[in-house]
Amino acid sequence: MIGNTAEVSPAPPLGQTGGPLGNPTTEPLLNVRDLHVHYGKIHALQGVSLTVGKDQIVCLIGANGAGKTTTLRAISGILAASGGEVVYQGEVINAVAPFDIVGRGLVQVPEGRRIFSRMTVAENLRIGAFRQKDKQWIADMEARSLDMFPVLKQRFKQVAGTLSGGEQQMLAMARGMMSNPKVLLLDEPSMGLAPLLVEKIFDTVVEIRKQGVAVLLVEQNAFLALQIGDYGYVLETGKIVLEGSSQALLENAQVKEAYLG
Ligand code: ATP
Repeated sequence: MIGNTAEVSPAPPLGQTGGPLGNPTTEPLLNVRDLHVHYGKIHALQGVSLTVGKDQIVCLIGANGAGKTTTLRAISGILAASGGEVVYQGEVINAVAPFDIVGRGLVQVPEGRRIFSRMTVAENLRIGAFRQKDKQWIADMEARSLDMFPVLKQRFKQVAGTLSGGEQQMLAMARGMMSNPKVLLLDEPSMGLAPLLVEKIFDTVVEIRKQGVAVLLVEQNAFLALQIGDYGYVLETGKIVLEGSSQALLENAQVKEAYLG
């Protein structure tokens, strides 16, 4: 367990932005306020609050079982919250269906890729644009996604299950980009990848932000995540115990000891 220090802040009052405490974004896109999730009797999220601003990469770091995936799934509407609010573009979306949440531009790329392994790369990408009927729009999105992940161009007709782990991760992210997100929720994109590929994936996250997409990045590789991030939250057993600029967290002795080893 880690505590707070002068350089980083305890969790601020709910939804606060722009002040001396809290994520200093001037344009919050996503505000999670006092979120609670239960799995039966297990109280997995115990009042999580966080903010993601336009053009930001916000990192959510924490040990195994801290509740990172649960947080993303509750934001996406896949899991029902037992308390608190998810506010997206100024609107509470707790009761909005998951596919409508995707349609509004809040898009999750799940842990472990979850690509359709018997379908081709092209077919997987089209699934990302499942709500769109406009062929030109789909073609434009596809071109943008393939520009970001050139390796997928070469693999376009290939069955996705035959891709390498790194390529599958790129496909999962490209599929997320096909939904034209405003906020991308990325769950452990570096998991199981060789160091060189991990670097490539992180470069792509920076590229995604350059395209005007905000990113909420869940990562066990806290060092790399905080290096590309603007702001970070530390989650321990269902609670945000620490938050601050990525730089402040990188320099924080307790974060170093617990997560940057
Ligand atoms: P990891 O990095 O291992 O994926 P995490 O930080 O994403 O961890 P979660 O998967 O969100 O953590 O899990 C948070 C807590 O909720 C853990 O105690 C976990 O055992 C519990 N949990 C998660 N999913 C379920 C489930 N379907 N049923 C019961 N408990 C669950």
